[in-house]
Amino acid sequence: MLLRVAGIIKESVVDGPGLRLVVFAQGCPHRCPGCHNPHTWDPAGGTSVEVEEVLAMVKKNPLLKGITLSGGEPFAQAGALAYLARQVRALGRDVTTYTGYTWEELLELAKRDGAVKELLELSDYIVDGPYIQEKRDPALPFRGSSNQRIIDVPASLACGRVVIASWGRIG
Ligand code: SF4
Repeated sequence: MLLRVAGIIKESVVDGPGLRLVVFAQGCPHRCPGCHNPHTWDPAGGTSVEVEEVLAMVKKNPLLKGITLSGGEPFAQAGALAYLARQVRALGRDVTTYTGYTWEELLELAKRDGAVKELLELSDYIVDGPYIQEKRDPALPFRGSSNQRIIDVPASLACGRVVIASWGRIG
């Protein structure tokens, strides 16, 4: 299964908790003013990579706590990324997904798109919402603007309201 990516970082400590492999999905419909990665907007840009290749990189590094799906917009390639997320979780690693959609928008999208629902449910954490220049706060860990929330997905789905992850409460 092919994924369109803007890039892959094999080890990062700034894209979620612990050591993580980061996949920057190519293609983003949000067009946030002030976006730091406008080269990721074009869905035809970037390069193609086999999901299995990414999985092999994860398997090769026992020190990884998990993977982070960033962008671009990961939910624009929800099918391939859900497949990757499922394999990664089977290895005992966790999944953090960044998205320009709000949590509430994602829940709506998930009602009519099975792949979105799958990726949502396979994510341990979701960092939600567009980058809003006026709310930029460089002091915030793991996110660019203060509207973005670090959401504990299983807890939020279980209780039907947004639960902020423990590592998202810092700052
Ligand atoms: S969602 Fe992220 S990648 Fe997409 S335009 Fe906004 S800041 Fe840029």
